[in-house]
Amino acid sequence: MFKQYCFLLKASYISDSDVLCPKHSQPLLLFCDEPKCQKLICVKCVPRDHAKHHVKDTEDKVKEEKEKLNKMLEVIGAVKVMISNELNLVSVQTLAILNRCGQACQHRASAQRDT
Ligand SMILES: [Zn+2]
Ligand SMILES: [Zn+2]
Repeated sequence: MFKQYCFLLKASYISDSDVLCPKHSQPLLLFCDEPKCQKLICVKCVPRDHAKHHVKDTEDKVKEEKEKLNKMLEVIGAVKVMISNELNLVSVQTLAILNRCGQACQHRASAQRDT
């Protein structure tokens, strides 16, 4: 998915004249979003090979991928916060347990000393 994103991003930065369809020598301004295609195509490719396919503007596709990526980053951020909260909770619990152990040991030690 990241590879595809990089590819699209690169394609969107290269000027139109640099990205030409190998079959038709036309600028690759479109993207076929069919699961079996998932590639950049030119306007002449559409009627030939992608007639009933889900063809989009490359720009739109790039925008879409960026949004997906942003959402993914948001989720990752949320998960990170969740994990750090969990870790905090665990360390607080661990400290509480250690404290309790320490107190118990002290009690035992002082009890042994008294007898
Ligand atoms: Zn073409
Ligand atoms: Zn297609």
